Amino acid sequence: MPLHAPRTVEVPEYEVREEVRVDPSRTALVVVDMQNDFVKPGGSLVVPDAEGTIPNIQELLSLARESGMKVVYSQDTHTEGDPEWRIWPEHCREGSWGHEIVEDLAPRPEELVIQKVRYDAFYGTHLDHFLRLWGMDRLILCGTVANICVHYTAASAALRWYEVVIPKDATSALDPFDLEASLRQTAFLFDGTITTSAAVKVGGGEDVYRSKVEEAATEH
Ligand code: ZN
Repeated sequence: MPLHAPRTVEVPEYEVREEVRVDPSRTALVVVDMQNDFVKPGGSLVVPDAEGTIPNIQELLSLARESGMKVVYSQDTHTEGDPEWRIWPEHCREGSWGHEIVEDLAPRPEELVIQKVRYDAFYGTHLDHFLRLWGMDRLILCGTVANICVHYTAASAALRWYEVVIPKDATSALDPFDLEASLRQTAFLFDGTITTSAAVKVGGGEDVYRSKVEEAATEH
């Protein structure tokens, strides 16, 4: 078979948890790049499925705000001459309509908005500083694009030993292959948890997460 021939691949199995219980005092909800350019008609780099995830993200925001969970937003931010515009069309120009977080998910004044220049919301930002200051060890990640900014932020979080939870109905990609490949990597490689928005519950249960760093420290 020639190397360039199209072929069908199967997504390897990964678990989608039916219930995930989180401790709101140690869990942050991170809403990634839900900005007009990626989400709304007229945006410069629209992910067609992203708008459909808004109700699920709203549900997660309600849960987080009602339970006192920290809420963080990332905001992709570029200025003239940004090399990322050589990979992608111009998007998220600082100060433009496309740069704004969609109105339906507007951050509250007390919620942290992290402006980032690359896919990873930790890279060159204060995100890790604040998460550690607040004593967070688990992140619920949602938003777009699943295999780009959500994925690289999940990767970066997992490398720092944060537990990563991704409700798959609250994230979106340009292509179903990319979405599934990313979720599979998160489950398999980052030892993360894939679930759905409605399955995330606060408190109780025996699986309240203790960070791997903390576990290792108390074992000695
Ligand atoms: Zn960008």
